[in-house]
Amino acid sequence: MVRIAVIEKEKCNPTKCGNYLCIRLCPVNREGKDCIVVGEDKKAFINEKLCTGCGICPKRCPFGAIHIINLPEELGGIPIHRYGENGFALYSIPIPVFGKVVGILGVNGIGKSTAIKILAGILKPNMGNFSAETGIDDVIKFFRGSQAQLFFERIKKGEVKISYKPQNVDSIPSLFKGKVIDLLRKSDEKSIFDDVVAKFDLENVLDHEIDQVSGGELQRIAIAATMMKKANFYVFDEPSSFLDIKQRVKIAKIIKELATPETAVIVVEHDLIMLDYMTDQLHIMYGEENAYGVVSFPKSTRQAINTYLSGYLKEENIRFRQNEIKFEAKQPFTKKGSQHLVSWTDIDKRLGNFSLSAKEGKLSKNHVIGILGENGIGKTSFVKILAGVIKTDKGEISENIRVSYKPQYLEASDITVIEVLDDAEKKYHNLIVHPLDLELLFEKKLTELSGGQLQRVAIAACLAKDADLYLLDEPSANLDVEQRLMVGKVIKDVIEHRYVTALVVDHDLLFIDYISDHLIVVTGKPAIEGNVRGPFIMEEGMNLFLDGMDITLRRDLESRRPRINKEESRLDRDQKEKGKYYYT
Ligand code: SF4
Ligand code: SF4
Repeated sequence: MVRIAVIEKEKCNPTKCGNYLCIRLCPVNREGKDCIVVGEDKKAFINEKLCTGCGICPKRCPFGAIHIINLPEELGGIPIHRYGENGFALYSIPIPVFGKVVGILGVNGIGKSTAIKILAGILKPNMGNFSAETGIDDVIKFFRGSQAQLFFERIKKGEVKISYKPQNVDSIPSLFKGKVIDLLRKSDEKSIFDDVVAKFDLENVLDHEIDQVSGGELQRIAIAATMMKKANFYVFDEPSSFLDIKQRVKIAKIIKELATPETAVIVVEHDLIMLDYMTDQLHIMYGEENAYGVVSFPKSTRQAINTYLSGYLKEENIRFRQNEIKFEAKQPFTKKGSQHLVSWTDIDKRLGNFSLSAKEGKLSKNHVIGILGENGIGKTSFVKILAGVIKTDKGEISENIRVSYKPQYLEASDITVIEVLDDAEKKYHNLIVHPLDLELLFEKKLTELSGGQLQRVAIAACLAKDADLYLLDEPSANLDVEQRLMVGKVIKDVIEHRYVTALVVDHDLLFIDYISDHLIVVTGKPAIEGNVRGPFIMEEGMNLFLDGMDITLRRDLESRRPRINKEESRLDRDQKEKGKYYYT
């Protein structure tokens, strides 16, 4: 058994835990040995050779700073990279394949970015050896006999040129000052400017300053700039964040086309439908957040996603999640005992140059209604009309309802998480706070949180308020697959437990499919007009929406998850002919 000890230094707070609680409790220390000691940085330090793995210190550290991990023997015990003693360890690495799009699937905080940085040559792997300088020859030797060896040999010969789209596109404005056109011209090593600008719908933002464009525009600019570079290895870290479904499908097609016999592509993505659509094979990454990560052998995309949902890697004999994630073949069409919440007659509203209309409709209690539509098409304005915040030009809302709203873009301030979640913690610890794994964040300020942590805090704060209708705008943004499904479950539980209603705007189709029992579809032209229709039952709503997208979905026979049909495949043509874009 290989055992490693990882201490999250930023969580370790010896003065607040009662003066090195772990040192006082460790049975090996109590025998007089120095298993846990005070490190040079005054934080706890564990001698991995002396630790017996009794499990006391990780359980008792009040800040969850310690991880004691027993790794499977097959990993050989040597990481490809470790961030110092008692630091995060990464085992193995994904392998780029020329001519294919290879995906990486796994939760946040288990080393996906580390793996990409190693492949990109940004991070020199140390193979767990902190004392000696390692070079490319050591890396080649480390991977001897595997596909990775061939890839690193090509790197050594200077045959690999990488172009990399980082995860956080919001940091681009701090790195580049100037207009969109300047950034794209600077990146255009292949002289494909006009073609790319048209493909990515960027004509209207070319003259905008980079710090003035929206998240979705920034994402498309970053992907476009990455593709314009002359390279033979392209890496896209979370390319679908901030994009609506239409844009996601478009980007996925463009990324697929990039893989040729001379070019390798790697994609990290949490939108499972898009990952499924754009990749040929996948590596699953598992491990423990901020402690260690392991990269599985590659598998076909379909097999890998089904394995991921099952939570069990057969070949490796590793269970990385206790429960299986299941999708229902069909969503329930009606819920028993649903009472009327609010209804509206035909609505018209003009907002500057934008006009919004809605066909008459109604919402019942105890429902989760997904809202599908492009960005900038009036989804939020419609809900504000229901809440009475915006008055209609024409049309009536039947009752006054209280709405709790989580916006799409979240603002972080200097207050602490517990100040925001005080009510949630007091009233809904078991229903909301605990399942969203928020306890360990209580003392942090909102400005210190990652995008995913801030998202979970905002969802919890929204759901804890007293309201009749909850509007959650893009709750899946910045969350990994597990967190998305957990958020989905929490929303469903809150709605059922408190007999209220939620409207969920999101662009992750699998998430919407998982969470919704009905759908509202908003069609039209972004920034010009929006037409709200529904709520529909799932099949009807999806058919209407997918018809507009020109894609068809089938259900995977094994996991029942939705998958996009290959364009012009027999199934795609059959379903389109029958007008059955969703269920077959
Ligand atoms: Fe205290 Fe935990 Fe740090 Fe040990 S690891 S010193 S228990 S805060
Ligand atoms: Fe000591 Fe290891 Fe037990 Fe922690 S897990 S208390 S370090 S023996």
